[in-house]
Amino acid sequence: MDLKGKVAIVTGARRGMGRAHALTLAKAGAKVVIVDISQEDCQKVVDEIEREGGEALAVKCDVSKKEEVEEMVRKTVERFGKIDILVNNAGICQFVPFLEMTEEDWDRTLDINLKGYFLCAQAVAKEMVKQKSGVIINIASIAMGQQGIGFPNIVHYCASKGGIVAMTEALAVELAPYNIRVNAISPGMIETPMIDPIKKDPKMEEAILARIPMRRAGRPEEVSNLVLFLASDESSYMTGSTVVIDGGWLTK
Ligand code: NAP
Repeated sequence: MDLKGKVAIVTGARRGMGRAHALTLAKAGAKVVIVDISQEDCQKVVDEIEREGGEALAVKCDVSKKEEVEEMVRKTVERFGKIDILVNNAGICQFVPFLEMTEEDWDRTLDINLKGYFLCAQAVAKEMVKQKSGVIINIASIAMGQQGIGFPNIVHYCASKGGIVAMTEALAVELAPYNIRVNAISPGMIETPMIDPIKKDPKMEEAILARIPMRRAGRPEEVSNLVLFLASDESSYMTGSTVVIDGGWLTK
């Protein structure tokens, strides 16, 4: 899958899955914009890509802030001239019992996980419509709802991920006339710093692994291969889909 000449933005790319997606897209030939809340960490990923002969740009941006998102898109177009691919990936997952959840907890999660996807998608789509092509990939989660499983202590997170799937379908219909494809990926448990609270609780980890037929968490790169497919022309007839990648968790 060849992305030579393509320009990609990956949010939440200083670490975890976002970093893996950025490295994978760069390896396939894309110029990649590394977006996250720490400029220093973003620059480390850029250095890594450049060492491998790729091209990248680090942009510090809080995806929940409209002005920062618009500035990030402006910097991307200034440096690379266009945007072909957006990977909406930046997210947070705070474990908190529902009865103790504050309004601030709820707002923060929804602001980053859902509003952030809206702000980035809209700012980027305004560029993509000009060239009448583009791909938007929204990272959701198997905690998206409608799967017969409820995930306790992350009610706000689940609500945000369900919103992402609904948004993906609606956006796919609205942007299809502009030749912009919009798909979502719903990972199961993936080895990143986000699952540290699970790792610190061996009982919880054991209980989760018992529900996964493959008996292990996924590696970030395993999700990146799917991102690469959805970003490439190999998936040219796919839009409005949500693809699950979970070691069989939802099939059990
Ligand atoms: P991660 O390692 O915590 O990476 C997420 C990155 O997003 C972090 O660098 C984080 O910075 C950044 N971020 C948070 N708020 C941001 C903001 N307002 N603006 C810009 N960047 C921000 O988590 P991950 O596991 O790679 O998660 C990536 C995506 O996959 C998320 O959408 C997550 O919900 C989804 N997902 C993860 C799993 C899993 O098991 N790991 C499963 C299903 C779905 P800080 O660290 O400073 O917050």
